[in-house]
Amino acid sequence: STHGSMEMERTLAIIKPDGLIGNYTDDIKRTIVEYGFSIFKEKIVQLDQATVEKFYAEHSSKCFFSRLIKYMTSGPVLVMVLEKDNAIADWRALMGPTDASKAKITHPHSIRAKCGLDIERNCVHGSDSPNSAQREIPFFFQELSADVVGEHDEL
Ligand code: ADP
Ligand code: MG
Repeated sequence: STHGSMEMERTLAIIKPDGLIGNYTDDIKRTIVEYGFSIFKEKIVQLDQATVEKFYAEHSSKCFFSRLIKYMTSGPVLVMVLEKDNAIADWRALMGPTDASKAKITHPHSIRAKCGLDIERNCVHGSDSPNSAQREIPFFFQELSADVVGEHDEL
C-alpha cells in the first residue's frame, strides 16, 4: 500500500443540518484530524426527500422515518470520506451513541454529547459496518465506486 504497513480504511461521515447550522463544523473537523483521520473527500450538499429515503432505506418502516427525512432535509449537510486505520469503528466511537441526550451522561467527550441534542438531532452520521461504508461512500461519491477503480488517479 502507498500508506506503508498500516491498513487504511474509509468510512462515510456526515455533519447533519443541526451541526452545520450550529457552527460545529470547524470543531468537529479539528477533532477528526486530532484523532488521526484524514479527510479524503468532502462536499456540502442539500439533500432532498428522495435521496434521504434511499440513504436511510433500512429505517423506512420505523415510526421516526418521516421526521428523520424532515430533519435531514432541513438544511445543508457536510458529507465526508474519512480515512484511517480502523476508521469505521473509530469514527463511530468518536461520535458516541445515537441518543445525544444520553451520550451527555455516558460519553461526555463524544461529538454527539458535545454537539447533539437528542435521539434525533444528534449532529453526525457514521457508517456502522464495512458493508455500510461500501454502500454509503459511492452513494455520495460516485467516483469512488468499485466500477471506476483505476479510472481515477486519486485512487
Ligand atoms: P445511528 O445514526 O447511530 O447509526 P440509527 O441508524 O439507528 O442511528 O438511526 C439513524 C438516525 O435516525 C439517527 O442518527 C437519528 O438521527 C435518527 N433516529 C434514530 N432513532 C430515532 C428515534 N427513536 N427517534 C427519532 N429519530 C431517531
Ligand atoms: Mg445507523
